[in-house]
Amino acid sequence: MSRILIAEDELRVATFVEKGLKANGFTTAIVPTGHEAILLALDDTFDLILLDLGLPGKDGLLVIEELRGQGCSTPIIILTARDDVQDKVNGFELGADDYVTKPFRFEELLARVRTRIRTYRPLQSDSQDCVLSCGELVLDLRTRLATISDRPVELSSREFTLVETFIRHSNQVMSREQLLDHVWGYDYAPGSNVVDVYVGYLRKKLGAHLIETVRGMGYRMPS
Ligand code: CA
Repeated sequence: MSRILIAEDELRVATFVEKGLKANGFTTAIVPTGHEAILLALDDTFDLILLDLGLPGKDGLLVIEELRGQGCSTPIIILTARDDVQDKVNGFELGADDYVTKPFRFEELLARVRTRIRTYRPLQSDSQDCVLSCGELVLDLRTRLATISDRPVELSSREFTLVETFIRHSNQVMSREQLLDHVWGYDYAPGSNVVDVYVGYLRKKLGAHLIETVRGMGYRMPS
């Protein structure tokens, strides 16, 4: 059974979300402040965090920053009334995985929760399935650790998922749309350059040769 942490100070919203999630077989915990969200997320095991940005004390963006900084890779979906592009971008850059703007329909939230939990746990008990590699690059899907030539590389949760997608499709040309779909699972505005930005991050961290640009088509990771 998947456990979800709801960090939300509006009791009405928190209980609405909790009720819906429980009815769909999830277990939940609610915290009303950013500080408590960090403590509980680091102390306990959750499969997903639903995070309001406008939290008292510690803002949701600070919560993401602190959790990712402490190595917590639990998927985070931001819930917020702020329909602000910059908040969205900041949230993603800090390591959030998805974004739902209030007011939202519960079905939409549920679909996103399920997608995130599925992407986060593609692994089964067989350890063979938990390690992916391409040349010198090795990903441990269980610990979410990446190494290149046995040297650990720090990747954000989004970067990790992107590189995982490339390895799973090595030698295939992946279009920006396919990568958005696999990694972001989100309706980006057409022309969004988020894929190019993240490929840039990966090249910087893993070596420029690792991902090839296929002009007019997308990107490819040669095996
Ligand atoms: Ca709030």
